[in-house]
Amino acid sequence: MLLIHCPYCGPRPELEFSYGGEAHIARPSPPESVSADDWVAFLYLRANRRGLQAERWRHVRGCARFFNALRDTTTDQFLATYRCGEPRPDGGGSASP
Ligand SMILES: [Zn+2]
Repeated sequence: MLLIHCPYCGPRPELEFSYGGEAHIARPSPPESVSADDWVAFLYLRANRRGLQAERWRHVRGCARFFNALRDTTTDQFLATYRCGEPRPDGGGSASP
């Protein structure tokens, strides 16, 4: 069974977690000046990379908190997990949500 390291609770079985989509997606601001195309990109368009990807996960059957993870999508291996607001451990992307 795959163990995922919750940054708040420690390692737990994957069945306790829920995938929350790509991490570090910044909400465009201010909303009244954002174009329709930018809203579409924010709401629906994701990179869906093959290989290393920063993702948002939630420990739904534990502490219920969201956190970010670096996961290799080709091997399903979690390389790191970190709390929301913390910088991405490999230096890629931004530290936003
Ligand atoms: Zn937890």
